[in-house]
Amino acid sequence: MPYIIGLTGGIGSGKSAAAEAFARRGVIIVDSDVISRDLTAEGGVALPSLREEFGDEIFAPNGSLDRAQLRAKVFSDADAKRRLEALLHPLIDAESLRQSETARSPYVIQVIPLLLETGMGHERFNRILVVDCDESRQIERVGLRSGLAGEQTRSIMASQASREERLAHADDLIVNTGTLEELDAKVEVLHQRYL
Ligand code: ADP
Repeated sequence: MPYIIGLTGGIGSGKSAAAEAFARRGVIIVDSDVISRDLTAEGGVALPSLREEFGDEIFAPNGSLDRAQLRAKVFSDADAKRRLEALLHPLIDAESLRQSETARSPYVIQVIPLLLETGMGHERFNRILVVDCDESRQIERVGLRSGLAGEQTRSIMASQASREERLAHADDLIVNTGTLEELDAKVEVLHQRYL
């Protein structure tokens, strides 16, 4: 098993941008959002269990997952959200582990937006790397990236771990308040240390 870095941070903090900078250096990135999408894409291994748990109503007539329906369901129903997470998290976890085990790079970066929220820690990662920036920048970047209104971003931020909690768990920290070039330089310093 290679050395594993768990990378986390709030929405819009720059996790993906930081992961891209590591990837440019040849580091294998294991991204839990990508895995989650694959598990629920056409033919994805999570689909039969999702149908069993939530029924046909979250599927389109062509058999693909109706993500909007599923989102609406878990948005209004805390128990459904819990059941969805109980179903998906072990699958995401197992696939992350599989990809990490087979990764041919000196170390692996696992990008996990909800690393702290799902109670993961040093039993899974050699180090926890937190990408951090001030909340007004998070809101501005998410607005530019996804066109989300400040209010929506704020409510997502309120459902995530606080900055203080994240900073308390960080072994390494990237303060992403400068330019993308500055972010790249910070990644280079960490990359050398991880090697
Ligand atoms: P996350 O993955 O944490 O949600 P992203 O990496 O997608 O955040 O960053 C959010 C947006 O802000 C993206 O469009 C990204 O290109 C941009 N961004 C990230 N870091 C910087 C930076 N240092 N300077 C300018 N734009 C940035």
